[in-house]
Amino acid sequence: MGAVAYVNGRYLALKQASVNVEDRGFQFGDGIYEVVYVQDGRLIDAPLHMARLQRSLREIAILPPLSLNALEVVIREVLRRNRVSTGLVYIQISRGVARRNHAFPATPVRPSLIITARHGPALPRDAASWAGSAITLPDQRWARCDVKSTNLLANVLAKQMARHAGAYEAILYDAAQTITEGASSSVWMVDENGTLRTRQLGREILPGCTRAALFAELHTAGIAVAETAFTLAELKRAREIFVTSATSFVKPIIRLDGASVANGAPGPVTIALFERYLRHMQTG
Ligand code: PLP
Repeated sequence: MGAVAYVNGRYLALKQASVNVEDRGFQFGDGIYEVVYVQDGRLIDAPLHMARLQRSLREIAILPPLSLNALEVVIREVLRRNRVSTGLVYIQISRGVARRNHAFPATPVRPSLIITARHGPALPRDAASWAGSAITLPDQRWARCDVKSTNLLANVLAKQMARHAGAYEAILYDAAQTITEGASSSVWMVDENGTLRTRQLGREILPGCTRAALFAELHTAGIAVAETAFTLAELKRAREIFVTSATSFVKPIIRLDGASVANGAPGPVTIALFERYLRHMQTG
């Protein structure tokens, strides 16, 4: 049995699955999405992802095509049909199909819903083997990065620059040389005074679900974290850097713009949080 995609109420062979050429998601990036990691059949941090999906829809005035309960039923069915028990689920909702015109369709159309699933990646064994590198780049995205929009051109270009440089992630900074986030991750650091920091939420960054789950873990563990923005210069002096996302978990960054971060190995805070998040995924 080959891969299966859910497209607007139907389960189709992935190879044949397609959307209308006038889908507004295809023509304008007028839609939102979520990516959820699935571990042994459990949707990791699902309540956080579902809440963010609903918020993204609200912020761009798309009505949910399904209730959350119905959506979860479809997600489970897509996983079952693809025989995925550990892997990724991708959920995309666009404003729907309408004659091309920038403004919303005059009479509302049914939003398009697409769900796909794929196997892997397996959970990493340890922080050291999971570590990667990053480059820094100016943030060229729009002013509502808190919405998980399918309009990802600036993120795509930044990620390609990282790939070209042999790096895992592109860490972005704004016009004031303040770090916003990664092209597809939240950015954290332990600063030169030993304080764990990540940028405060706002329109400049996506409210990461992994970030939120890690905050709960930090709270339980009694580890202090400061939600304060930091500059590119501060990042370059960091003792530890890591990024978080549904697909990178807690990923140590041990090289930045070609130079080692501290001694070039994951630091103690990063290792502790890597392990805590993995435990959270296995038990939470
Ligand atoms: N920031 C951006 C721009 C992202 O694309 C992502 C995830 O893809 C994240 C942060 C991390 O979000 P999450 O932890 O919910 O995966």
